[in-house]
Amino acid sequence: MRVPPGLTPADFRDALRQFEQAVGKDWVFSSDEDIDTYRDSYSPFWHESEEPIPSAAVAPAEVEQVQQVVRVANAHKIPLWTISTGKNLGYGGSAPLLGGSVVLDLKRMDRVIEVNDKNHYALVEPGVSYFDLYRWVQDRGLKVWIDPPDPGWGSLVGNALERGGGYTPMRDHFDAHCGMEVVLANGDLVRTGMGALPGAKTWQQYKYGFGPYVDGIFSQSNLGVVTKMGFWLFPQPEAYLSGSVAVAKHDDLFPLVETFAYLMNSGIVQATTTVVSPLAYSRDPQLATLRSGGSTSDLEQYAAQKGIPYWSVSLPFYGPEKVVAAQWEFAKEKFSAIPGAKFQDGASYRFPLNADQLAKIVNPVPFGVPSLQTFSVGGPRSQGHMWFSPIIPMTGEAVLEAQAVFDQVAKDLGGSGAVAGFPIWNFFARAFVIIYFFPIEHEVEKNRRNREIFRRLVKTSAEHGWGEYRTHTAFMGDIMDAYSFNNHSLLRLHQTMKDALDPNGILSPGKNGIWPKAMRKARA
Ligand SMILES: Cc1cc2nc3c(=O)[nH]c(=O)nc-3n(C[C@H](O)[C@H](O)[C@H](O)COP(=O)(O)OP(=O)(O)OC[C@H]3O[C@@H](n4cnc5c(N)ncnc54)[C@H](O)[C@@H]3O)c2cc1C
Repeated sequence: MRVPPGLTPADFRDALRQFEQAVGKDWVFSSDEDIDTYRDSYSPFWHESEEPIPSAAVAPAEVEQVQQVVRVANAHKIPLWTISTGKNLGYGGSAPLLGGSVVLDLKRMDRVIEVNDKNHYALVEPGVSYFDLYRWVQDRGLKVWIDPPDPGWGSLVGNALERGGGYTPMRDHFDAHCGMEVVLANGDLVRTGMGALPGAKTWQQYKYGFGPYVDGIFSQSNLGVVTKMGFWLFPQPEAYLSGSVAVAKHDDLFPLVETFAYLMNSGIVQATTTVVSPLAYSRDPQLATLRSGGSTSDLEQYAAQKGIPYWSVSLPFYGPEKVVAAQWEFAKEKFSAIPGAKFQDGASYRFPLNADQLAKIVNPVPFGVPSLQTFSVGGPRSQGHMWFSPIIPMTGEAVLEAQAVFDQVAKDLGGSGAVAGFPIWNFFARAFVIIYFFPIEHEVEKNRRNREIFRRLVKTSAEHGWGEYRTHTAFMGDIMDAYSFNNHSLLRLHQTMKDALDPNGILSPGKNGIWPKAMRKARA
């Protein structure tokens, strides 16, 4: 039997009995077989003693049960690790950061409380997955879209709290939330925004309520357990239109990105896309030689001969048919300032799609339809993956600098140097995020090497003024350490809040680098 740090087996058995009284005997899990299901199947510590394995899991069905669980945890000083649907693969899955924690699994709290297709919002519990909400909307014929991330089996709440991203104009999931209900570490229940007003009529329509806006402190944090969350939904659009822009020269990247940023910041492009170099993806051996040793003009010549653009970006537009057509026309006009820029019309649809149309779409996620087809990523090549995902400025200069810097780190450390040409995403307004794929292996030495490369990338990134937006539990301390302005004053603020709200340190110790007071010294 695994026990939480600092507890005797007898104390823990007593606590498990109290958890059972709170949620029912069937909903406390402590057998090895059950615990295995909460391990991170993409753990970078495969077959190493550092893999953080939980001691048990407890799954409440009601808010009152969450409050009881939290009180039992306080009485016994048991660390809890909250998950909504626990599908956070690539970032730690459903496993805790601190081994021996008890997973607080909210999957049974799976009620869709409201979906409104006149003011376009939803209020859901943490166990509601994107598939659940999609079915709910479809069954009732409501004219709203949800915005799933690539895998649709995760929850709106867990994904948004991790500040995850999707594809449609609602793609910044934390930004798209409106109002929360939170159980604090002492068991108190709080509603944020307009939810603090009893009988509020606008909890999901106006974010701020009155007074300090506290929602942010519950995202990527360990200061509360979110038990309800509101989301703004996208009104079902009339149409979708996409087009792509291709440019031929290396230095065309500068005006390409500048124009792209102008269109994004003007609200003309509102959805997720990537800037790519198609040259990076070709498997032609001649190109591989040019990429490692050739000059920029060699690559330009190669691209010209083969008819491949040096850089390209595709632009998705959602809205009324006339409006999306005008947006694409305007974008073409702007990009035409780059000599030789070429344009290609892409897919276009009118909504709703019928079953035949949907079946023909390889990836339905950008059309608000959850899917699991993304799991083709990395399947044959590795046992899973994690991501290194720094935020960089939305400029061509930053893209090239990041490409050169990360490529060099990987080469220095004996990696493949395959970072070049990584796709650069606009999941969030105003900045790019690079999503750099890191394979997980079932080989201890390879994982150690990859962890070393990852940590070096975090450091090098910080030296260049870039920070990661989110990370695997294994690197949360490293990344928080990089956000060090004024001798880590932001972390000290987080710790002050942690000590005030959770003095026993029961909620997700170590999450995003925030440790409770009693554990802080040992982790310094
Ligand atoms: C192939 C692949 C593609 C992916 N693509 C994307 C993508 O496009 N976009 C994207 O964002 N992610 C992506 N992911 C990452 C991940 O799968 C999703 O973000 C997923 O939605 C997160 O899982 P979840 O919703 O079950 O969150 P959970 O695992 O339930 O929660 C994630 C974390 O949030 C915190 N948390 C959760 N619930 C609560 C709560 N109620 N109260 C307080 N804290 C809480 C916890 O720290 C928890 O560890 C991808 C993963 C894979 C493997």
